[in-house]
Amino acid sequence: MVVSVSFLIYSIRHNAKYGIMESILSISHLTTGFLTDSGFLKAVDGVDFSIGRGETIGLVGESGCGKSVTALSIMRLIPSPPGRIVSGDITFEGTNLTTLSEKEMRVIRGDHISMIFQEPMTSLNPVFTIGDQIGEMFAFHRKLSKKEILEATLHLLSQVGMAAPRRVVSSYPHQLSGGQRQRVMIAMALALSPSLMIADEPTTALDVTIQAAILELLVSLKVERRMSLILITHDLGVVSEVAQRVSVMYAGQIVEESRVSDLFSEPLHPYTQGLIRSLPQTKASHNRLYTIPGAVPKLSAIPPGCRFHPRCDRVMDICRREAPGMFSPDNTRKVRCWLYG
Ligand code: SF4
Repeated sequence: MVVSVSFLIYSIRHNAKYGIMESILSISHLTTGFLTDSGFLKAVDGVDFSIGRGETIGLVGESGCGKSVTALSIMRLIPSPPGRIVSGDITFEGTNLTTLSEKEMRVIRGDHISMIFQEPMTSLNPVFTIGDQIGEMFAFHRKLSKKEILEATLHLLSQVGMAAPRRVVSSYPHQLSGGQRQRVMIAMALALSPSLMIADEPTTALDVTIQAAILELLVSLKVERRMSLILITHDLGVVSEVAQRVSVMYAGQIVEESRVSDLFSEPLHPYTQGLIRSLPQTKASHNRLYTIPGAVPKLSAIPPGCRFHPRCDRVMDICRREAPGMFSPDNTRKVRCWLYG
């Protein structure tokens, strides 16, 4: 997937110009779990991270590492029961979201924080037209008239690069292609000009050529509107192209936090090293692609000590007995591994 170099330079300069250090969202000790037949299991266990205004961070890791549960916790969309945020703070623009009522959260969602889901077909309602679904947001949050809603919807669809927006307004989701549906999802996420957007695997369900176009659109709109973006993906290649910082998740915890450039030039955690080794190389090679041995543990079978130790090629005795804390080898990086303790 390739985003143009000039565009990225523009993005970086924009961030420098406006200063991205003011924190818009800060998460501390977030723990979210689900009541199951095997007891209460923590899908997210003590997660901390923050994102600056205008910044893009990547949240990466294999499926089942807790990325989406983290995002749904921020949106307060964890189905309850069986799910529950057990502890921790989610502070957005000075307000702790964990203390808000459902009514107050409805204002936050869309108006201030929006989310793009992986598979638009399951997020769009098949029995309503695209115009109805986008228009509902303007009607609920902005109380616009019918004429104003139509104008705003057409404008939004044009902004996300949709050809023939008038035809799209009266179309049903099944009448659009995968790329068009994802553009509609982006339009809905942008409709109320949120200051933070969470994109959960926004390009996974699309073919490769459409992926690049959607990603470039997402980042250009983010820069134009000076939004912050949390990009959730299992694809480190995507993160390398658009994010400034990365948090790597494994088995419900963040195991490495770093600037993108540092992560790719010198990954610290053996899990991160494995993820980077698994990326396809541009140099022609007949070797098989590397894969990290084993699999992410089930929540009901989290190993003692370091959660990664059954898969780690640098495992030591202490790793099997004691869980490592977060160590800071320098003031821009954090890593959860005894090699740095
Ligand atoms: Fe590997 Fe030990 Fe580091 Fe865990 S703590 S990643 S097992 S070296």
